[in-house]
Amino acid sequence: MSGRENLVPLLDGEAKPAVSNLFGLSRQQLTDLMLQFRQPAYRAGQLLQAMFQQRTASLDQVHTLPRELRTDMADQGWIIAAPRIVETFHSIDGTERYLVAGQDGQTVETVWMPDGDGGEQGDGSGYEAASAGSRRGTICVSSQIGCAVNCQFCLTAKMGMQRNLSAGEIAGQVIAVLERQAVQVGRDRINLVFMGMGEPFLNYDEFIAAVRLLVNEAGLAESRMTVSTSGIVPGILRLAGEQVRPRLAISLNAPNDGIREAIMPITRKWKIDEVIQAAGQLPLRPRERVTFEYVLLGGVNDGLQHANELVSLARAAPMPVKVNLIAWNPGPGIGYTMPEPQQVAAFQQRLIARGVPAFLRRPRGRDIYAACGQLKRTVKEIQPAAL
Ligand code: SAH
Ligand code: SF4
Repeated sequence: MSGRENLVPLLDGEAKPAVSNLFGLSRQQLTDLMLQFRQPAYRAGQLLQAMFQQRTASLDQVHTLPRELRTDMADQGWIIAAPRIVETFHSIDGTERYLVAGQDGQTVETVWMPDGDGGEQGDGSGYEAASAGSRRGTICVSSQIGCAVNCQFCLTAKMGMQRNLSAGEIAGQVIAVLERQAVQVGRDRINLVFMGMGEPFLNYDEFIAAVRLLVNEAGLAESRMTVSTSGIVPGILRLAGEQVRPRLAISLNAPNDGIREAIMPITRKWKIDEVIQAAGQLPLRPRERVTFEYVLLGGVNDGLQHANELVSLARAAPMPVKVNLIAWNPGPGIGYTMPEPQQVAAFQQRLIARGVPAFLRRPRGRDIYAACGQLKRTVKEIQPAAL
């Protein structure tokens, strides 16, 4: 249940549910709630600060609120139920994959990569320039359980679409990891990538509500957040109109509609050109580029002729772009092969030689099934691939 639904019974004066979760409610919703308790609006800010900055786990511990108010709220069934890490998998490369449980006990996957994976380079976020004394890390966040888009090379697709995550469940993954890693927001350089399980733009409202909580309430920098989409054009256009928004990455993965349709059936709905034109609507910040993500599949899209076509797309785009190359990570039951390392290098060199900034993302956490496209809530049923 999303936080919004939680609030409805109390607002309508109907029978209230047994418990209602404060975590994930927007500033406006909390303000309305405080008014119902005859409290000034700034109490909403105190609650948000407790949940998103102090990362307080229970209402009882929000000492900035009067004790009587806390008791009244608890009597009415209000709780702080932030998502919790229930299982951790450690990779030999330092990556950690977490199962994070929401109120209903269902788990989603979140990944912590100390030092990131190289995909942050050249994006103008300043991430590379971490100074002495500050830590760096990238958190990969899920937006849905499973995914309906059905890209042929992706393990998450095999789960099918199970359900959307609420804003609290999306933002809560980040808060849980910040707490686990003892991150000091403001000092440490933390990147967020909405590239975990799911298609963020098929859960747009909850995704963007989570972004607002993370930027406005937790104090994370929007310029260090990236949302990745398989090319949902209405979502790209909505993003272009947002006051607060992450940077945009498009999972292009093919240099023409023919190849793309074979590996990403969503191409039947929106062609490459439409997707790129929509991305051109974003009012970019200084030094910001749109990222084309490109998963290299051995023998499918990794030839130099494909690199040449990709150069043409990048040159014709109405906005500055950079390319992030990802060598395909294998998964059981998926009939592709990894590209040859020399092919990957040649592909990258061709892009660079023709003036297109191109970066190679290091696979992180492959041994614990944490790498791109491997998130499937794998616990024991799949033997990890060798690094
Ligand atoms: N659904 C969104 C975000 C999550 S997927 C999207 O598709 O953009 C994040 C990235 O992982 C995408 O660029 C996707 O193309 C890539 N990916 C999926 N499966 C992969 C695999 N097996 N190996 C490498 N990258 C993969
Ligand atoms: Fe969904 Fe992204 Fe995987 Fe495609 S690559 S199935 S959009 S998670």
